[in-house]
Amino acid sequence: MDFKLAVIPGDGIGPEIVAQALKVLERVGSVFGHNFSIKELLAGGCAIDAVGEPLPEETLRECKNSDAVLLGAVGGVKWDNLPGDKRPEKALLGLRGELGLYANLRPAVVYEELKDACLIKTMDTSDNIDIMVVRELTGGIYFGERGRKMTEDMGELAFDTEVYTTLEIERIARMAFDIARKRKSKVTSVDKANILESSRLWREVVEKVAKDYPDVELNHLYVDNAAMQLIRDPSQFDVIVTTNMFGDILSDEASMITGSIGMLPSASLAEGNFGLYEPIHGSAPDIAGQDKANPLATILSVAMMLRYSFNLSKEADAVEKAVEKALKEGYRTGDIMSPGKILVGTEKMGDIIAGLIE
Ligand code: NAD
Repeated sequence: MDFKLAVIPGDGIGPEIVAQALKVLERVGSVFGHNFSIKELLAGGCAIDAVGEPLPEETLRECKNSDAVLLGAVGGVKWDNLPGDKRPEKALLGLRGELGLYANLRPAVVYEELKDACLIKTMDTSDNIDIMVVRELTGGIYFGERGRKMTEDMGELAFDTEVYTTLEIERIARMAFDIARKRKSKVTSVDKANILESSRLWREVVEKVAKDYPDVELNHLYVDNAAMQLIRDPSQFDVIVTTNMFGDILSDEASMITGSIGMLPSASLAEGNFGLYEPIHGSAPDIAGQDKANPLATILSVAMMLRYSFNLSKEADAVEKAVEKALKEGYRTGDIMSPGKILVGTEKMGDIIAGLIE
């Protein structure tokens, strides 16, 4: 099959890790008989340098004309003092909004071979931690009305508004239930329904959607309890579905449990099969250009792309298995290195994973 992929290497370690991911994708193409046509595009700091803006029109147009987008990372000290709308990170918000990416999927997996990196030292190491946080990405308090005004006697007043519609809740809930069906069939919906009206609607709609998925177990947690449970016993979770702001916070908390930022991929999905795939980490300017970056989060983002945008689950499994095998064989980049293991650079890790695709 033929697929059109827009690739945004970005800044810092972005180009190095994306090169490894493309190496792996090419290998998937030759082993499984697919053709991935690649269009490299500018966004972030490098786009500011080249054309004076973080998200050039051409990049957006080409992304819209593709089946999926793969992004490395954007940003760096060089552009830190620019005004807000000229900063590299503006490209990310622009892409999310313009491409209609309403769902953010972030797996938090503790690999058998990397259990030592797990930050919860008291955790029973026989527990299997494999959580998928499904965060609503284009609604809620980050997009509701906000403003400031002067009061008569209390000084200045500022407000932000949490707003959700039935449609927004329903589509993210369906996404979570569909994903749960392909995993352990358990959804935990996180809200603050004891206080917030928007959360009460959230809960009502999620319960209604659940009726179409009798085979999937649903439970509800208040966000404060969810934050505690993630630390107390992360193995109880399969899929967590939640609002934009709660998801922002809980997905970072879940990722820190694994202790290895260089291992975690993400997907941001639109209606249909379109999606943007990227590692959760940033452009790591401290190690850029030194062949030290861990490319596995980006390679695992390619696996998510194969699964969610291209419907190639066998190929996605092959990439994930290759990563597990490389770890089992002892290969480590510096960030996940431990005594007795084999230290490799970014390039070499890419070669190893590509070589293990079968
Ligand atoms: P960061 O994720 O880039 O780095 C945090 C730490 O983790 C650093 O010590 C870094 O060396 C290490 N690290 C990150 N990825 C790694 C990898 N693949 N392999 C090995 N080590 C890795 O976060 P930061 O330092 O806060 O941000 C740096 C820049 O990235 C900033 O300009 C920030 O705005 C930007 N950023 C971009 C994105 C994105 O593009 N999606 C996300 C977060 C931060």
